[in-house]
Amino acid sequence: MRQKERAQEVLKRLRTQYPSFITALDWEKPWHLLVAVMLSAQTTDENVNKVTKKLFQKYSHAKDIARATIKELEKDIYSTGYYKAKAKNLKALSTELAQRNERVPDDMEELITLPGVGRKTANVVLHVLYGKTEGIVMDTHIARVTQRIGFTKEKNPPLAEKKMMRVLPKTDWKEWGDLLIQHGRKICDARKPLCEQCVLNDICPTGKKIIPL
Ligand code: SF4
Repeated sequence: MRQKERAQEVLKRLRTQYPSFITALDWEKPWHLLVAVMLSAQTTDENVNKVTKKLFQKYSHAKDIARATIKELEKDIYSTGYYKAKAKNLKALSTELAQRNERVPDDMEELITLPGVGRKTANVVLHVLYGKTEGIVMDTHIARVTQRIGFTKEKNPPLAEKKMMRVLPKTDWKEWGDLLIQHGRKICDARKPLCEQCVLNDICPTGKKIIPL
């Protein structure tokens, strides 16, 4: 089966497993979502929600976060991990947002100029806030599953994203991220993939090695 056909087969099978997807991050204002996605790197949405609930109660506006010290912010977001780098980015990002009256940009080029905002964060924000698709949401988990299913050798998310943007039609870009993130959480775990239970095991090169057909 050619790559483009195989990608369609993957989507078809995963749609049956994960019929709906809602971002698990809690947010009320657009800039809250941007901050929440930025903080979600290398941690769970559940964990981010616990942290942002308190964070946005303590700081009503981006300008309030911008005025806080890095040390204070480190304490506020400590449990999200990588707290030193994230606190610096949070302060710098909030300073930018305060200068923009908390308006979140609606295009990729502008979004990725903001502190701590990479393509993954920008793709999520564009999808959720503006219904726009300019790329594929590709974090380390989605890149891992994409690699295991045999579409790329790239572990680096932006490179894996570029590869899949050539394999999939643009209309499927959003769904690829939505379905693979769920599959990575439920079945294709980083340490213990449950290949025996996986609907892709007969077309996945990694699954075939684990369960020889
Ligand atoms: S067969 Fe195994 S490695 Fe392949 S996608 Fe399924 S769980 Fe992941």
